[in-house]
Amino acid sequence: MEQRTPVAEVEPDEQVRVAGWVHEIRDLGGIAFVILRDRTGRLQVTVSEDELPTETVEMVAEMTRESVIAVIGTARPEDRAPGGIELIPDTIELVAKADPGLPLDPSGKVDAELPTRLDNRTLDLRKPDVQAIFSIRSTVLQAVRDAFRAADCTEITTPKIVATGTEGGTELFPISYFGREAFMNQSPQLFKQLIAGSNVERVFEIGPIFRAEEHNTPRHLNEATSIDFEGAFCEASDAMDMAESVVTAAYERVSEECQAELEVLGLTDGFELPSGGFERITYEEALDRLNASGALDESLVWGDDLSTEAERALGELMGAHYFITEWPAEVKPFYIKNFDDDPTTSTGFDLMHPAMELSSGGQREHRYERLVEGFEQQGLDPDAFAYYTEMFRYGMPPHAGFGLGGERLVMTMLDLDNIREAVLFPRDRQRLSP
Ligand code: ATP
Ligand code: MG
Repeated sequence: MEQRTPVAEVEPDEQVRVAGWVHEIRDLGGIAFVILRDRTGRLQVTVSEDELPTETVEMVAEMTRESVIAVIGTARPEDRAPGGIELIPDTIELVAKADPGLPLDPSGKVDAELPTRLDNRTLDLRKPDVQAIFSIRSTVLQAVRDAFRAADCTEITTPKIVATGTEGGTELFPISYFGREAFMNQSPQLFKQLIAGSNVERVFEIGPIFRAEEHNTPRHLNEATSIDFEGAFCEASDAMDMAESVVTAAYERVSEECQAELEVLGLTDGFELPSGGFERITYEEALDRLNASGALDESLVWGDDLSTEAERALGELMGAHYFITEWPAEVKPFYIKNFDDDPTTSTGFDLMHPAMELSSGGQREHRYERLVEGFEQQGLDPDAFAYYTEMFRYGMPPHAGFGLGGERLVMTMLDLDNIREAVLFPRDRQRLSP
């Protein structure tokens, strides 16, 4: 492509070629102001009718908002223009004309509902606040990767098409695989354990998980991005340390590198870094605090999972990120290790943001016989998982890890109302395209 100067880098008295979208046109008769927008900012192009060929003037008169144009011209200072600079064009090229019937207004002056925005993501993403979310999401993922690498982890990618689900369960999407039934994987859990048990020891993956959740909620997707860790010779507290450190790294990096985006989102004041040392309370303590607070209509008893309301009430009591540890064995999956001296209690933990669950993890059951027993207790057929359990017969070290929802991390960090705001093309009960 021809040389192109980003509009933020245009300096007075320079001849430049800029290209981007027509953000706005103000035609004052005799003179027209075209605001050109690219990913770096906006630039006023001042079009004087008597200084340009008739064809160019006519073309500008017919120009539609969001058309793509390329302009060669010389910049000069102009106090009244955005950024204090205007471009005096020598030539204007209409690269791609936009249909005037825009399905949504990228200037943001007219609000659109979320479904309309998601149907027209290309236009929606032209809005600075929407772009800011995805720019921050990109920084979050980079920070998370760097934190794992700094902790000696190897990045892996595991199959998304599988013969059996992680937890059996009803949350699987079946697909046809050369005439055989297969599934979209709901978690890299079993694979990451198999690799942690090799010489690789410490692994992480950032990849899609698929969940056939029946309900449409503001915090569930049918395809989400899971940030997974698994480490050999780790116990639950090591996995919690790791989860805490990647979440903290994400907040720190966003605070360091994304001030402009936070400002666009109106979050510069409210953006607080998590203070070191997330509080760790046991499940039992969580129940006690909740029951003592009187926030719930009905008291919780040992064995209950925490409802959305309970999570929210507890979050309000805690006021910051925290862990709930030592869950009842019965509410955690078969691969979570239970305490030897109290098999009704598990090493499973959840990492919570005050608004919702961010991550689940724990130490894993690495002893073959106990693992197979656990399968049977949860009504699963160990033979269907032989590819997994067999490897536990050949020297499987103790290990621990977690799965952390990438979108939930971004959603809670930016206080978004709906998890779909943090996904370019969300998949939910109704939405399969784009
Ligand atoms: P929840 O109880 O909130 O539905 P979960 O306990 O079923 O979540 P896990 O299986 O523990 O979820 O998955 C680990 C993490 O992955 C969750 O803490 C969450 O951050 C994320 N996650 C799981 N399912 C979804 C989903 N459907 N949409 C978005 N994120 C998800
Ligand atoms: Mg969970």
